[in-house]
Amino acid sequence: MSGNSVTGKANENPLDAVGEVMRHLRSTDGVPSLADLDAGIIAAFRDFPHVLAVSVITEPEGSGLLDPARARGTQSSVGEWTQAGEATLTHLCRTLRVLERSFATVRLGLDVDPQEVPEVGAALERLAEAVEGVAALWAEAVSARAESRRFEAENKALNELNRLQGRFTAMTSHELKTPLTSITAYADVLRSLVPEEQVPQAAEFLSVIQSEAARLLRMVNRILDFSRIESQDQLLKRTPQKVEPLVQDVVRSLRPMILAKNLSCQVEVQSDLPRAMMDGELIRQVIVNLLGNAVKYTPDGGQIILGVEERDATLCVRVADSGPGIPPDDIQRIFREFYRSRGPAAAQEGTGLGLTIAQRIVHLHDGSIQVARRPEGGSEFSFEVPKQLIFPVPLPESYGARLIPGPALRLVQTLVRMLAELSASKVVTLVLKDGFGELIPVAANSLRAGDGYPAPFVESEAWKRFLKAGAVGREQDLSGERLAWNPLGVETGGDLVLAPLGSGDAVTGCLVLGRRSGADPYSRDDLTQISVLAGLCHLALEGLARWGCGPRRDESAAAVEKITAAVRVLLRIRRTGVPTATAPALRLVECLGARCGLQSAEIVHLQFAAALHDAGMAHVEDEILLGETVLSWDERDEVDQHVEQGVDLMEPLFPDPSLTGIIRHHHERMDGSGYPAGLHGDEIPLGSRLLSVIDAWFSLTRGRPYRPGLPPATALAEIEANRGTQFDERVVNEFRRVLENEGLLAADSVESGPKPGGRMETR
Ligand code: ADP
Repeated sequence: MSGNSVTGKANENPLDAVGEVMRHLRSTDGVPSLADLDAGIIAAFRDFPHVLAVSVITEPEGSGLLDPARARGTQSSVGEWTQAGEATLTHLCRTLRVLERSFATVRLGLDVDPQEVPEVGAALERLAEAVEGVAALWAEAVSARAESRRFEAENKALNELNRLQGRFTAMTSHELKTPLTSITAYADVLRSLVPEEQVPQAAEFLSVIQSEAARLLRMVNRILDFSRIESQDQLLKRTPQKVEPLVQDVVRSLRPMILAKNLSCQVEVQSDLPRAMMDGELIRQVIVNLLGNAVKYTPDGGQIILGVEERDATLCVRVADSGPGIPPDDIQRIFREFYRSRGPAAAQEGTGLGLTIAQRIVHLHDGSIQVARRPEGGSEFSFEVPKQLIFPVPLPESYGARLIPGPALRLVQTLVRMLAELSASKVVTLVLKDGFGELIPVAANSLRAGDGYPAPFVESEAWKRFLKAGAVGREQDLSGERLAWNPLGVETGGDLVLAPLGSGDAVTGCLVLGRRSGADPYSRDDLTQISVLAGLCHLALEGLARWGCGPRRDESAAAVEKITAAVRVLLRIRRTGVPTATAPALRLVECLGARCGLQSAEIVHLQFAAALHDAGMAHVEDEILLGETVLSWDERDEVDQHVEQGVDLMEPLFPDPSLTGIIRHHHERMDGSGYPAGLHGDEIPLGSRLLSVIDAWFSLTRGRPYRPGLPPATALAEIEANRGTQFDERVVNEFRRVLENEGLLAADSVESGPKPGGRMETR
């Protein structure tokens, strides 16, 4: 078979051709099939000079596939290649041999221009080498696919087993309840019928039967509760509700037990609390379990305190007691199913399920539950549930929320919560511009009974100036003029921060943050942090606008859920005490970046990377992260893997490879002994070199449960001792200057956000 003209663009470099195969493989959904590989090879050969048509027939899958556009060659063409010259055939055979290592049979049909045979031969030789890589990639992909299928199947089987176990538990528990209730009832009747004189021990025996049956019934009820929560039969019915009445109600119903043990029970409730989003029945159960334990485990005459208070994004319920407390070794285990702690509490009746049930319910509410040892003795359990978030006006059309309302709202909810928690602001209002330039408040938290509903408003001159300036600022510093809009009961002119979303002519809206927790007004560092958070928020909303209007609803929903997951990770990083998204850390990044000559856009990038680079830590087991001892090798391994996991988690939020590059390489060392790529010196991105110094600074100065934090001067000396080997010398020198300028070296310790030690957060 022969052709008479040369078609296709010249593709001299075989690696380009292979690149094309790879690109093709990547562009297919999921793990490539054999047909994908065929198509890839065809795409690579097709653009070779002097090759007019290509066909690949691969077996055993028997998926003989021809280039649909040029399918003139079939198996019959094999005979004609032999006429194309011996050299060509040799090289062709080599190509085929490489492919044959991966497939049982491969036939490749090439329709070539006879004038150019020697040239084709040489090109084929180069291609043969390169194809080897493709075949290896394909083999890997196939084995990965087989593995993932196996995992999927195993997972399915495990889920099914879990479901059956749950049903079995629920059914047996239910079946046990009926006879137990009859036993109790008959024992009651018998007690009244059998005269004490005739059967002297009857009353005593019958009361044992009654109390044991009642105990068994309590246990069976617990197990039933547990299996209901586990199988999620009981769907969450969340409505905005006040928490205080629930607390008061539970105290009332446990009053007889409290009085019987002569316990004092104090209820401390902050006034004027906003509502929480919750299923009242279930949250009542959590309070019953926690208060019930406090009553059960606190010795006679002890003290119990219940408190309800507002946190930044949540309402928090605390139950403290003067009981035996939880032994340190058990602090991390008591939420596990059936776990009962040893120590003095073990003597009491129990199933070890009460806390597990409480934890599941709180997690269903997207909340967190924790326990701490009180310094004065006893334990303090507390849990948080999200505050009510209102959506006064639907999201503007351009965010596509009509197409995927659920994922869009979840993203907005998560953003507001992240902003509130990270900036320690009790009021957060997200304002977006609609298609007519009107500013509409789309989400707000912390509403009180007397607060007005935020309404859309048109930009006044002052707003226009503020938005155009593009900088975060405290309201009173922004302009002489007041911004005539009162976002939710916060007095304008008070401690209120405004942060535009986007910049210049591309401002898409703004954030209004206020009512700081604690008495501290917003500081300069806080403004730096808020501008980084606003930048992240803007990226997430851009992602929503991009995907929300996409043509395929399922694809859009999945992409937006991934963005939400990335934002959620930030919340988790903060809770586990990783300090790099905090105001002081982001300010250090800004100062160091400027000293090392980064442009302002690069500094913003670096701040994003700093805020999120430890995202993978969210996957590291809490027990490792908060463990009381130095990490074992296996645990070290798990922590090391966090780099890639962090990059994967963050990618949906940052499609920018230079940013993910900074995150990926922040554990490299100047002498090449770091990970994951073992890069040397300048090969390491400058951002990563900066980040690794700042990271080291915070991990040295911050205390861990197993060691105290170093004083700043000692920590810096430690970093300087590793100049050239671990850290970039110039960056370390600049870092010293930054610390001197900021007056940080003289301090006794470094303030860097929440400290996790001794307190077990379960989310
Ligand atoms: P149960 O109380 O039925 O054993 P829980 O799941 O409620 O199960 O509690 C698990 C364990 O945690 C208990 O066995 C007890 O050792 C410990 N515990 C729970 N609450 C307290 C408390 N307030 N004081 C001391 N120990 C407690």
